[in-house]
Amino acid sequence: MSDGSDDRSRFTHFHFGHEPEPAEPTPGTLAIPHPGPLSPRGMLIACARCEATRDWLLVHVHPDLVFVRCRCTHEWREPDLEARDVAAARGENFEEREWSSFEEMYRGLGFDGLFHGTYLA
Ligand SMILES: [Zn+2]
Repeated sequence: MSDGSDDRSRFTHFHFGHEPEPAEPTPGTLAIPHPGPLSPRGMLIACARCEATRDWLLVHVHPDLVFVRCRCTHEWREPDLEARDVAAARGENFEEREWSSFEEMYRGLGFDGLFHGTYLA
């Protein structure tokens, strides 16, 4: 049996402000770097801007949108990729990190254009 003060403090975070709201503007967004080429339906994915064919950032946006981002910062929705493809690219050693914004995430992962073309070297 816990005393009453413990119970009150446990629930105080529901009481400030108004109704509880989701803190994250983009719930369920998952970004996974994918260094290799991708050919989800036998068609090799290539960047329309710089013609790169690998070194992608896969971005899964809740609930079932998948975007591919290139090192040159070109980004598009890829309907041939599904959420499970992103999850499969995740691997076992993926280090979870939280970002406060897409810009910060892109910078942190090196997809802000700084490494544009470096994969060719
Ligand atoms: Zn590109």
